[in-house]
Amino acid sequence: MTQIIDGKQISKQIKDELKDKVSKYKSEGTEISMAVIMVGNDPASAVYVNNKKKACEYIGIRSLSYELPEETTEAELLELIDKLNNDPSVNGILVQLPVPKHIDDNKIIRAISPLKDVDGFHTQNVGSLCIGEKGFVSCTPAGIIQLLKRSGIEIAGKECVVIGRSNIVGKPMALLLLQENATVTVCHSKTKDLKEVTKRADILVVAIGKPKMITSEYVKDGAVVIDVGIHRNENNQLCGDVDYDDVYEKCSYITPVPGGVGPMTIAMLMNNCVESVALQMSE
Ligand code: NDP
Repeated sequence: MTQIIDGKQISKQIKDELKDKVSKYKSEGTEISMAVIMVGNDPASAVYVNNKKKACEYIGIRSLSYELPEETTEAELLELIDKLNNDPSVNGILVQLPVPKHIDDNKIIRAISPLKDVDGFHTQNVGSLCIGEKGFVSCTPAGIIQLLKRSGIEIAGKECVVIGRSNIVGKPMALLLLQENATVTVCHSKTKDLKEVTKRADILVVAIGKPKMITSEYVKDGAVVIDVGIHRNENNQLCGDVDYDDVYEKCSYITPVPGGVGPMTIAMLMNNCVESVALQMSE
Protein backbone atom coordinates (compact mmCIF):
# COMPACT_ATOMS: atom_id res chain seq x y z
CA MET A 1 0.00 0.00 0.00
CA THR A 2 1.24 3.49 -0.85
CA GLN A 3 2.40 5.57 2.09
CA ILE A 4 2.00 9.34 2.05
CA ILE A 5 5.03 11.18 3.40
CA ASP A 6 3.66 13.79 5.79
CA GLY A 7 5.91 16.85 5.41
CA LYS A 8 3.77 18.89 7.78
CA GLN A 9 4.23 16.42 10.60
CA ILE A 10 7.96 15.86 9.95
CA SER A 11 8.62 19.61 9.72
CA LYS A 12 6.77 20.11 13.02
CA GLN A 13 8.95 17.43 14.59
CA ILE A 14 12.10 19.24 13.36
CA LYS A 15 10.83 22.64 14.51
CA ASP A 16 10.05 21.24 17.97
CA GLU A 17 13.57 19.78 18.22
CA LEU A 18 14.97 23.18 17.21
CA LYS A 19 12.77 24.93 19.77
CA ASP A 20 14.44 22.83 22.49
CA LYS A 21 17.93 23.64 21.15
CA VAL A 22 17.12 27.36 21.00
CA SER A 23 15.81 27.38 24.55
CA LYS A 24 18.99 25.60 25.69
CA TYR A 25 21.08 28.28 23.95
CA LYS A 26 18.91 30.95 25.64
CA SER A 27 19.48 29.41 29.07
CA GLU A 28 23.22 29.70 28.37
CA GLY A 29 22.79 33.39 27.46
CA THR A 30 22.90 33.04 23.64
CA GLU A 31 20.07 34.55 21.64
CA ILE A 32 19.80 33.56 17.96
CA SER A 33 18.71 36.14 15.43
CA MET A 34 18.07 36.15 11.72
CA ALA A 35 17.84 39.17 9.42
CA VAL A 36 15.17 38.80 6.73
CA ILE A 37 15.48 41.30 3.88
CA MET A 38 12.81 41.89 1.25
CA VAL A 39 13.16 44.43 -1.54
CA GLY A 40 9.93 45.57 -3.22
CA ASN A 41 6.45 44.24 -2.58
CA ASP A 42 6.02 41.08 -4.60
CA PRO A 43 2.93 39.44 -2.99
CA ALA A 44 4.33 35.86 -3.19
CA SER A 45 7.59 36.99 -1.55
CA ALA A 46 5.60 38.75 1.18
CA VAL A 47 3.81 35.46 1.98
CA TYR A 48 7.13 33.53 2.10
CA VAL A 49 8.76 36.19 4.30
CA ASN A 50 5.80 36.20 6.64
CA ASN A 51 5.92 32.39 6.97
CA LYS A 52 9.64 32.56 7.75
CA LYS A 53 9.04 35.18 10.45
CA LYS A 54 6.25 33.05 11.95
CA ALA A 55 8.56 30.01 12.06
CA CYS A 56 11.26 32.11 13.79
CA GLU A 57 8.73 33.20 16.37
CA TYR A 58 7.59 29.60 16.99
CA ILE A 59 11.13 28.37 17.53
CA GLY A 60 12.31 31.35 19.56
CA ILE A 61 14.64 32.90 16.97
CA ARG A 62 14.56 36.71 16.90
CA SER A 63 13.74 37.88 13.37
CA LEU A 64 14.94 41.29 12.22
CA SER A 65 12.80 42.46 9.37
CA TYR A 66 14.08 44.78 6.61
CA GLU A 67 11.33 45.68 4.15
CA LEU A 68 13.00 47.91 1.59
CA PRO A 69 11.29 49.88 -1.19
CA GLU A 70 11.41 48.66 -4.82
CA GLU A 71 13.73 51.54 -5.79
CA THR A 72 16.46 50.47 -3.31
CA THR A 73 19.78 50.50 -5.18
CA GLU A 74 22.20 47.59 -5.35
CA ALA A 75 24.75 49.71 -3.46
CA GLU A 76 22.26 50.37 -0.63
CA LEU A 77 21.43 46.68 -0.35
CA LEU A 78 25.13 45.74 -0.34
CA GLU A 79 25.74 48.32 2.38
CA LEU A 80 23.01 46.80 4.58
CA ILE A 81 24.41 43.29 4.04
CA ASP A 82 27.88 44.51 4.96
CA LYS A 83 26.50 46.05 8.18
CA LEU A 84 24.71 42.79 9.08
CA ASN A 85 27.79 40.69 8.20
CA ASN A 86 29.76 42.71 10.74
CA ASP A 87 27.11 42.66 13.45
CA PRO A 88 27.97 39.83 15.87
CA SER A 89 24.39 39.76 17.20
CA VAL A 90 23.10 38.65 13.76
CA ASN A 91 23.50 34.92 13.06
CA GLY A 92 21.68 34.45 9.77
CA ILE A 93 21.04 36.73 6.79
CA LEU A 94 18.39 35.97 4.23
CA VAL A 95 17.57 38.04 1.15
CA GLN A 96 14.21 36.98 -0.25
CA LEU A 97 14.56 36.26 -3.97
CA PRO A 98 13.75 37.41 -6.56
CA VAL A 99 15.12 40.92 -6.06
CA PRO A 100 14.06 43.68 -8.51
CA LYS A 101 15.70 43.47 -11.95
CA HIS A 102 18.11 46.40 -11.41
CA ILE A 103 19.84 44.38 -8.65
CA ASP A 104 22.24 41.54 -9.54
CA ASP A 105 21.08 38.62 -7.38
CA ASN A 106 24.41 36.75 -7.77
CA LYS A 107 26.28 39.76 -6.45
CA ILE A 108 23.92 39.91 -3.47
CA ILE A 109 24.29 36.19 -2.70
CA ARG A 110 28.09 36.47 -2.87
CA ALA A 111 28.06 39.52 -0.55
CA ILE A 112 26.48 37.59 2.35
CA SER A 113 29.08 36.15 4.71
CA PRO A 114 29.26 32.37 4.05
CA LEU A 115 28.99 31.93 7.85
CA LYS A 116 25.61 33.71 7.84
CA ASP A 117 24.31 32.38 4.50
CA VAL A 118 21.39 30.38 5.93
CA ASP A 119 19.92 29.82 2.45
CA GLY A 120 23.08 27.93 1.49
CA PHE A 121 23.38 29.72 -1.86
CA HIS A 122 26.89 31.24 -1.48
CA THR A 123 29.49 29.68 -3.79
CA GLN A 124 31.64 28.79 -0.76
CA ASN A 125 28.79 26.77 0.76
CA VAL A 126 27.97 25.16 -2.58
CA GLY A 127 31.66 24.23 -2.89
CA SER A 128 31.69 22.79 0.64
CA LEU A 129 28.70 20.62 -0.23
CA CYS A 130 30.48 19.47 -3.37
CA ILE A 131 33.53 18.20 -1.46
CA GLY A 132 31.60 17.03 1.60
CA GLU A 133 32.81 19.72 4.02
CA LYS A 134 30.74 21.46 6.70
CA GLY A 135 28.62 24.40 5.55
CA PHE A 136 25.06 25.48 4.88
CA VAL A 137 23.04 23.38 2.45
CA SER A 138 20.17 24.69 0.31
CA CYS A 139 17.01 24.19 2.36
CA THR A 140 14.66 22.36 -0.03
CA PRO A 141 17.03 19.47 -0.91
CA ALA A 142 18.22 19.26 2.70
CA GLY A 143 14.55 18.94 3.71
CA ILE A 144 14.02 16.12 1.20
CA ILE A 145 16.87 14.12 2.75
CA GLN A 146 15.16 14.55 6.13
CA LEU A 147 11.80 13.43 4.66
CA LEU A 148 13.43 10.26 3.34
CA LYS A 149 15.42 9.47 6.48
CA ARG A 150 12.62 10.20 8.91
CA SER A 151 10.26 8.02 6.85
CA GLY A 152 12.72 5.14 7.22
CA ILE A 153 13.58 5.07 3.50
CA GLU A 154 17.04 3.67 2.78
CA ILE A 155 19.06 5.83 0.37
CA ALA A 156 22.43 4.03 0.21
CA GLY A 157 22.82 1.88 -2.88
CA LYS A 158 19.53 3.08 -4.38
CA GLU A 159 19.09 4.22 -7.95
CA CYS A 160 18.05 7.88 -7.59
CA VAL A 161 16.91 10.10 -10.45
CA VAL A 162 16.58 13.87 -10.02
CA ILE A 163 14.63 15.75 -12.69
CA GLY A 164 15.87 19.36 -12.74
CA ARG A 165 19.35 20.87 -12.42
CA SER A 166 18.70 24.27 -10.83
CA ASN A 167 21.28 25.66 -8.43
CA ILE A 168 18.81 25.72 -5.53
CA VAL A 169 17.11 22.33 -5.97
CA GLY A 170 18.33 19.88 -8.62
CA LYS A 171 22.12 20.19 -8.29
CA PRO A 172 22.36 20.25 -4.46
CA MET A 173 19.79 17.42 -4.36
CA ALA A 174 22.00 15.26 -6.55
CA LEU A 175 25.06 16.03 -4.40
CA LEU A 176 23.23 15.21 -1.17
CA LEU A 177 21.97 11.89 -2.54
CA LEU A 178 25.50 11.08 -3.68
CA GLN A 179 26.76 11.90 -0.18
CA GLU A 180 24.20 9.36 1.10
CA ASN A 181 25.78 6.75 -1.21
CA ALA A 182 23.01 6.60 -3.79
CA THR A 183 23.67 6.08 -7.50
CA VAL A 184 22.48 9.37 -8.95
CA THR A 185 21.30 10.46 -12.40
CA VAL A 186 20.31 14.07 -13.14
CA CYS A 187 17.82 14.80 -15.94
CA HIS A 188 16.96 18.14 -17.56
CA SER A 189 15.21 19.59 -20.57
CA LYS A 190 17.79 18.14 -22.99
CA THR A 191 17.58 14.58 -21.59
CA LYS A 192 16.72 12.09 -24.34
CA ASP A 193 13.94 9.64 -23.51
CA LEU A 194 13.19 10.95 -20.02
CA LYS A 195 10.74 8.11 -19.27
CA GLU A 196 13.36 5.48 -19.92
CA VAL A 197 15.66 7.12 -17.34
CA THR A 198 13.04 7.91 -14.69
CA LYS A 199 11.65 4.35 -14.83
CA ARG A 200 14.97 3.13 -13.45
CA ALA A 201 14.53 5.18 -10.26
CA ASP A 202 13.99 3.65 -6.85
CA ILE A 203 13.77 7.24 -5.61
CA LEU A 204 12.52 9.87 -8.07
CA VAL A 205 12.86 13.56 -7.14
CA VAL A 206 10.88 15.84 -9.43
CA ALA A 207 11.80 19.55 -9.64
CA ILE A 208 10.81 20.63 -13.13
CA GLY A 209 8.38 23.49 -12.62
CA LYS A 210 5.74 21.95 -14.96
CA PRO A 211 2.35 21.17 -13.38
CA LYS A 212 1.46 17.44 -13.27
CA MET A 213 4.02 16.54 -15.96
CA ILE A 214 5.09 13.29 -14.32
CA THR A 215 2.45 10.62 -14.87
CA SER A 216 2.55 6.90 -14.01
CA GLU A 217 4.34 6.20 -17.32
CA TYR A 218 7.48 7.80 -15.84
CA VAL A 219 7.44 5.80 -12.61
CA LYS A 220 8.69 2.31 -11.74
CA ASP A 221 6.45 0.08 -9.62
CA GLY A 222 7.23 0.60 -5.94
CA ALA A 223 9.27 3.79 -6.45
CA VAL A 224 9.50 6.59 -3.87
CA VAL A 225 8.29 9.81 -5.53
CA ILE A 226 9.23 13.23 -4.14
CA ASP A 227 7.42 16.17 -5.73
CA VAL A 228 9.12 19.55 -5.32
CA GLY A 229 6.87 21.53 -7.69
CA ILE A 230 4.32 24.06 -6.50
CA HIS A 231 1.68 25.44 -8.85
CA ARG A 232 -1.89 26.68 -8.79
CA ASN A 233 -4.20 24.78 -11.13
CA GLU A 234 -7.15 26.17 -13.09
CA ASN A 235 -9.34 25.93 -9.93
CA ASN A 236 -6.75 27.86 -7.90
CA GLN A 237 -5.79 24.69 -6.00
CA LEU A 238 -2.17 23.81 -5.31
CA CYS A 239 -0.61 20.99 -7.30
CA GLY A 240 2.90 19.70 -7.98
CA ASP A 241 5.03 18.60 -10.92
CA VAL A 242 3.68 15.06 -10.40
CA ASP A 243 0.20 13.94 -11.42
CA TYR A 244 -0.51 12.69 -7.90
CA ASP A 245 -3.76 10.79 -8.60
CA ASP A 246 -2.28 9.00 -11.60
CA VAL A 247 1.02 8.07 -9.91
CA TYR A 248 -0.24 7.26 -6.39
CA GLU A 249 -1.05 3.54 -6.88
CA LYS A 250 2.34 2.83 -8.41
CA CYS A 251 4.51 4.23 -5.62
CA SER A 252 5.63 2.82 -2.31
CA TYR A 253 5.89 6.37 -0.89
CA ILE A 254 4.80 9.76 -2.27
CA THR A 255 4.85 13.38 -1.08
CA PRO A 256 1.60 15.33 -1.48
CA VAL A 257 1.33 18.97 -2.63
CA PRO A 258 0.63 20.81 -0.42
CA GLY A 259 1.98 19.23 2.77
CA GLY A 260 5.02 17.39 1.40
CA VAL A 261 8.29 19.13 0.51
CA GLY A 262 6.99 22.70 1.01
CA PRO A 263 6.89 22.78 4.85
CA MET A 264 10.37 21.23 5.01
CA THR A 265 12.03 24.18 3.28
CA ILE A 266 11.23 26.56 6.15
CA ALA A 267 12.06 23.93 8.79
CA MET A 268 15.53 23.51 7.26
CA LEU A 269 16.01 27.27 7.05
CA MET A 270 15.39 27.36 10.80
CA ASN A 271 17.78 24.44 11.21
CA ASN A 272 20.49 26.34 9.29
CA CYS A 273 19.95 29.37 11.50
CA VAL A 274 20.39 27.31 14.68
CA GLU A 275 23.43 25.55 13.18
CA SER A 276 24.95 28.94 12.33
CA VAL A 277 25.66 29.56 16.01
CA ALA A 278 28.02 26.58 16.32
CA LEU A 279 29.59 27.37 12.93
CA GLN A 280 30.25 30.99 13.93
CA MET A 281 31.61 29.93 17.35
CA SER A 282 34.07 27.53 15.69
CA GLU A 283 35.57 30.32 13.53
P1 NDP B 1 13.96 25.86 -12.43
O1 NDP B 1 12.98 26.40 -13.42
O2 NDP B 1 15.12 26.69 -12.01
O3 NDP B 1 14.54 24.46 -12.99
C1 NDP B 1 13.72 23.55 -13.65
C2 NDP B 1 14.57 22.40 -14.14
O4 NDP B 1 13.70 21.48 -14.79
C3 NDP B 1 15.64 22.82 -15.15
O5 NDP B 1 16.85 22.18 -14.85
C4 NDP B 1 15.08 22.34 -16.49
O6 NDP B 1 16.07 21.92 -17.41
C5 NDP B 1 14.25 21.14 -16.05
N1 NDP B 1 13.16 20.90 -17.01
C6 NDP B 1 12.27 21.79 -17.50
N2 NDP B 1 11.45 21.19 -18.38
C7 NDP B 1 11.84 19.90 -18.44
C8 NDP B 1 11.39 18.78 -19.19
N3 NDP B 1 10.35 18.87 -20.04
N4 NDP B 1 12.02 17.60 -19.02
C9 NDP B 1 13.05 17.48 -18.16
N5 NDP B 1 13.53 18.52 -17.43
C10 NDP B 1 12.93 19.72 -17.58
O7 NDP B 1 13.09 25.42 -11.18
P2 NDP B 1 13.47 25.17 -9.63
O8 NDP B 1 14.44 24.08 -9.49
O9 NDP B 1 13.73 26.46 -8.97
O10 NDP B 1 12.04 24.68 -9.10
C11 NDP B 1 11.38 23.54 -9.61
C12 NDP B 1 9.97 23.48 -9.05
O11 NDP B 1 10.05 23.38 -7.63
C13 NDP B 1 9.11 24.74 -9.29
O12 NDP B 1 7.77 24.30 -9.45
C14 NDP B 1 9.25 25.54 -8.03
O13 NDP B 1 8.14 26.36 -7.78
C15 NDP B 1 9.33 24.44 -7.01
N6 NDP B 1 10.07 24.80 -5.79
C16 NDP B 1 9.51 24.43 -4.60
C17 NDP B 1 10.15 24.66 -3.41
C18 NDP B 1 9.52 24.19 -2.17
O14 NDP B 1 9.86 24.68 -1.10
N7 NDP B 1 8.61 23.22 -2.23
C19 NDP B 1 11.42 25.37 -3.37
C20 NDP B 1 11.99 25.66 -4.67
C21 NDP B 1 11.31 25.38 -5.83
P3 NDP B 1 17.16 22.92 -18.07
O15 NDP B 1 18.19 23.15 -17.00
O16 NDP B 1 17.68 22.16 -19.23
O17 NDP B 1 16.41 24.16 -18.43
